[in-house]
Amino acid sequence: TSLKAEEFQDLERLGEGAGGTVMKVCHIPTGKIMAKKKINVDPNQHVHRQILRELEFLGTCHSPHIVTYFGALLEDEGSSVGICMEYCEGGSLDAIYKCVSRRQGRIGEAVLGKIGEAVLNGLVYLHSHKIIHRDIKPSNILVTKKGVIKICDFGVSGNLVASLAQTFLGTSYYMAPERIQGRQYRVSADVWSLGLTIMEVAENKFPYPSVLGPIELVAHITKMDPPQLSNDCDWSQDLRDFLRVCLEKDGEKRPTPKQMLDHPFIQRSAARQVNLERWIRQVWEWSD
Ligand code: ATP
Ligand code: MG
Repeated sequence: TSLKAEEFQDLERLGEGAGGTVMKVCHIPTGKIMAKKKINVDPNQHVHRQILRELEFLGTCHSPHIVTYFGALLEDEGSSVGICMEYCEGGSLDAIYKCVSRRQGRIGEAVLGKIGEAVLNGLVYLHSHKIIHRDIKPSNILVTKKGVIKICDFGVSGNLVASLAQTFLGTSYYMAPERIQGRQYRVSADVWSLGLTIMEVAENKFPYPSVLGPIELVAHITKMDPPQLSNDCDWSQDLRDFLRVCLEKDGEKRPTPKQMLDHPFIQRSAARQVNLERWIRQVWEWSD
């Protein structure tokens, strides 16, 4: 692409992750508002060319449940790559559930169903292009102003994944047991992460005990039974079963995203209309 660093104006900081900072920016020549994620990379021209080539796949992704990509550019004399994507005004699911939980509220099952449907459809699309997402978690599921649910931050660039892994441990608590153990994994690893994500959003907290430190937590995930929805709320049997199937510890037995689309919880959700535009307006108390 032909995006240039000097064509962007920073508007506000949207957040920060382990890998870099995300800014809301304006692309001055077009007036378009975008989100730009900056990731530190090896300042080597050969590596740059490779990363930009790997990112080209993002430009060919066209799915309603995948965040639109506008292009990438080199910044800071080649010490970082800026990834320009669609700005999602509704924010990420972690920010959304934390906001709802501050008001003592909860995200209901109808919306959880739509989240499951959207993420699974996005994953099926990626898998049709031989891509495993590898980082499904609440902060990587975004909602647009219109209430469309989309996934972002999937591992298309081996080089970028490597630069991130260098700076950080590269272990996420949403990783399926087989991945945490460094074993081989398949698309069903994303289904585990989706199960954990939906359970977290349903319960307004990460499903594993918060007292565990990182090393104990990894041991806990691999050794103990998977978490279950608490009985404090009257969740449907369909939802409970959906999470039980997602959180199958054996990656070989765990279904693929495509198979999960047939689950009764998702089938029931697909047959139902949910006004997600109104939902996201209520979450953020947007007036019109
Ligand atoms: P990690 O680095 O471990 O993946 P993360 O997903 O929170 O964690 P980032 O991907 O850097 O880190 O994102 C930081 C925050 O920026 C997210 O939590 C999200 O709220 C916000 N954000 C990211 N992309 C967008 C976007 N396209 N539109 C709106 N907000 C975004
Ligand atoms: Mg992210």
